[in-house]
Amino acid sequence: MIIVMKQGASDDQLAHVVSLIEKHGLKAHVSRGVERTIIGCIGDEARIEPLPFQAVSGVERVMPVVKPYRMAARETHPQGSVVKVGGGSVPLVEIGSGSLTVMAGPCAVENAPLLDEIASSVKDSGAHLLRGGAFKPRTSPYAFQGLGVDGLKFLREAGDRFGLPVVSEVRNVRQVETCLDYVDMFQVGARNMQNFDLLMEVGRTTKPVLLKRGLASTVEELLMSAEYVMSMGNHGVVLCERGIRTFEKATRFTLDVSAVPILKRLSHLPVIVDPSHAAGQAWLVPFLALAAVAAGADGIIVEVHSRPEDALCDGDQALLPDTFRSLVHDLNSLRSSLPPASYAPWLS
Ligand code: PEP
Ligand code: MN
Repeated sequence: MIIVMKQGASDDQLAHVVSLIEKHGLKAHVSRGVERTIIGCIGDEARIEPLPFQAVSGVERVMPVVKPYRMAARETHPQGSVVKVGGGSVPLVEIGSGSLTVMAGPCAVENAPLLDEIASSVKDSGAHLLRGGAFKPRTSPYAFQGLGVDGLKFLREAGDRFGLPVVSEVRNVRQVETCLDYVDMFQVGARNMQNFDLLMEVGRTTKPVLLKRGLASTVEELLMSAEYVMSMGNHGVVLCERGIRTFEKATRFTLDVSAVPILKRLSHLPVIVDPSHAAGQAWLVPFLALAAVAAGADGIIVEVHSRPEDALCDGDQALLPDTFRSLVHDLNSLRSSLPPASYAPWLS
């Protein structure tokens, strides 16, 4: 941490700041310039990070040097981490291992035959995981809330039948134990990205977690949420950019494509993109998915429905199975034509 003293700060004020630093077991390196004095704190910054130095008299600015997230930071794990999902009754999928991971399925599990139809077709098109919400976070309390535990059962059965690990959203702490019996991967939704109790609860399990970026959260806040999960012992976190709120109304959310290389540079965790919730309209989804792959995403999660006009949730943005099939083909060929690590200095 670097502390910049105000212009004209007195020697007493400087001595007081130095004594505070030393009191917490760090060394202070004082550097007197012509106009300003700056103090470099040497030692474990975590000890003094929470202290309100900004409020100490004579201090102008406090600049942290170490990132506030530790376990999620690339420094702690320079090579990217690989998150394993599934195994047992379904194939084991390795996210972040170099190939593109495709997760697909309906927004919500609606009924077993429809889910089977969609699962069968996405598997056939090259999907690796089946998605489907059983506990839906709806803006309106009157909208379809999902089938709950029945939805989880249908999802598990479809995953086992078609050889696809399953991912589903857990909306609150009480649902974690229930979901644990059915899902291969927890999804923490955008609206829950800073539900710290939920993050800690999934962090106490050993199931991987798909953590979606909050609608109005920064990249750093997303990484701090990943840190919550990891701090409880669960290191199987996959980050997901799904669009953020901006003034733009032409899309449901604005896909922050730049978040992909930024997250990959700052963190070793795999990064995937959800083009469906950002686009809000099916025709736009392939463009965003291609952009995500071009930006270096480790995977995508896409909504697919065989009868979007009848969908109980997010039908407007659901891809038809045929469109999904050609999209997967195009994403794979784009991925294989990308130059390797030449644009990724953090990998060298
Ligand atoms: C979803 O994936 O179904 C979903 C609700 O996504 P988000 O949390 O990103 O809105
Ligand atoms: Mn949806």
